[in-house]
Amino acid sequence: MNKLNFKHNQKNITDFYTAKDENSVVFKTHKTEYVSLLTDDEAIESEDDVVILKENVKLSVEDDENTQPSLKKHILKVKEDENVKIYDEALYEEKKALLLKDLQQKAASFKPSFEEEIEYKSNSKHVPEYRIHKFPDSEDKVTIDYFPKNSQTIYHFISHLHSDHHVGFSKKWLTENPHAVLVLGEENYLPFFYKFNISNFKSKVKALEEDYELMASRILVVRKNEPLKLYFNKSNSHIVITTLNANHCIGACLLLIKYYNEAGELKETILHTGDFRYNSKMMLPRLKDVYFDKIYLDTTYKSPVWNFTPKVELLNKVSLFLQQKLKPAIVENWFYKGNRIQRTLDTFVKNITFDKKSLKTLIILGSYTIGKEFLASGLSQKMNDCPIIVDKEGFRSVYNLPTNGNFVKSTDITKDLIDNFKNNDTVLYLGSIGNPKEIKQKLKLFNVEKIFGKMITICISLSGWNFYKWKNFFQDMEKVEELPVVNSSNCHRILEEFNDNSFIKRKYDLEEIFNSDLIFDDGFKLDMENLPKWIITQDKLNRIVYWKLSYSDHSSYKELSECCTELNYGKIIPTVNTHSMDLLEYHMRLWRLCKKSD
Ligand SMILES: [Zn+2]
Repeated sequence: MNKLNFKHNQKNITDFYTAKDENSVVFKTHKTEYVSLLTDDEAIESEDDVVILKENVKLSVEDDENTQPSLKKHILKVKEDENVKIYDEALYEEKKALLLKDLQQKAASFKPSFEEEIEYKSNSKHVPEYRIHKFPDSEDKVTIDYFPKNSQTIYHFISHLHSDHHVGFSKKWLTENPHAVLVLGEENYLPFFYKFNISNFKSKVKALEEDYELMASRILVVRKNEPLKLYFNKSNSHIVITTLNANHCIGACLLLIKYYNEAGELKETILHTGDFRYNSKMMLPRLKDVYFDKIYLDTTYKSPVWNFTPKVELLNKVSLFLQQKLKPAIVENWFYKGNRIQRTLDTFVKNITFDKKSLKTLIILGSYTIGKEFLASGLSQKMNDCPIIVDKEGFRSVYNLPTNGNFVKSTDITKDLIDNFKNNDTVLYLGSIGNPKEIKQKLKLFNVEKIFGKMITICISLSGWNFYKWKNFFQDMEKVEELPVVNSSNCHRILEEFNDNSFIKRKYDLEEIFNSDLIFDDGFKLDMENLPKWIITQDKLNRIVYWKLSYSDHSSYKELSECCTELNYGKIIPTVNTHSMDLLEYHMRLWRLCKKSD
């Protein structure tokens, strides 16, 4: 494709699509189009998520005649008549209570005591530099969001429980690295035990294993607003670590680490963002007075091409669009137009009278194991506090979910959909999105329709990469030589142009930047028969609408710019997209030139 011709032919987004059809820019088949809705900006959960499909209960009768009954003893004892494979709620609650008791008793400081010298074996695999942080003028170091086969440090921090932040971890790893200690934000403690089924916490029928106390003693927590002091082995050098909400998925935290040497002198302060969505209002008050020697930065969106609407603003737009535009357009198109499809649907769903007023709407928010909880709770608030159904089996349900969202932890989603539709016209479901057939089968929507009549299902795929397919079109934005040369006199103007997209629009001769938020424009007319297919598609047979929305729990380019011009720091170490170091260095230099504190 000749990009220059392409540029001359189109001035705005509609032209772009017309031109796209004519020029056939990399098309995906219909099938892969649906599969791509699963795309998320988190790495696909692959190696983790302990799924217990079947459990063979082997009974071990414990002789406790001489033992005083206690809560602990009760839980460690496996019940004799246990041939059941159904979920034992009471057993789970007892296990949870015991772990919570341990959690409450955790101390605010920790000093490792090892009887033998720790033997650090060398690693065959190269560990990325940003995963192990070495403190100045010492041998003290910590590992962050990574579990190498042979651990080289005592402390292993986990910023949050997305699988790309605990690569290498398993129950086996804990046994193979007996000196290793894990440090988590307090909120992640129980979910961590659950996700990895540590000491059988996730098990439906088994009691906690006898080793749970040992395991619990190796998992430390940083409480909210309370620092944790960690000493290094046989020395007085230590770190003081505090956490801050990372505005990412549930439980995600920023790690603020201060390192003190043997003499108790502060030698280094670092900030590890894990994955984060920078929010100046929320974070700056806690960060503005600190000088960070190093910031380990989540540089997921490394180019100004990725600027999406801030969360709060987006919530308003999405809820208005859903209620005032999308739903009425679907109703009009599907139920009032006596076209061929309508007749097909009438024969498909028999004996049902359609009442517009009580029309049920299911909104599915696409997300893997954890993430998008705050978007879900925000949307629920905007839509009459409608219920948000989440899968109880998933480890998301072990978290304290946002209190301003009406969350329902479900073991039978179809049943809970039916129950909740009795008092609500709209129900949200937070979970993974498959193709239309899979959705209908998984949620057994036919059973819901048998009771309430025809319903609308809207699947929202949430990702900042939702317009990633235009990457090739914007490839010049990733070449440093194609970007303006920055200096101290033009830096502010250039950053402003990057942040408001004017540079990109000018460079590519566009009137709009490609972003699914375009449909929020007042002038956008929603025509269900001619949908902008890269944003909205419909499966007429299954009556499911798919909407790709540019949303992310990571910082957009603009938010990264804000972070790196507002904070006071010596060096930034990118943790994502490290293969594009020249591009990252270009932007880091630009941010540094625009820094407010310099
Ligand atoms: Zn993440």
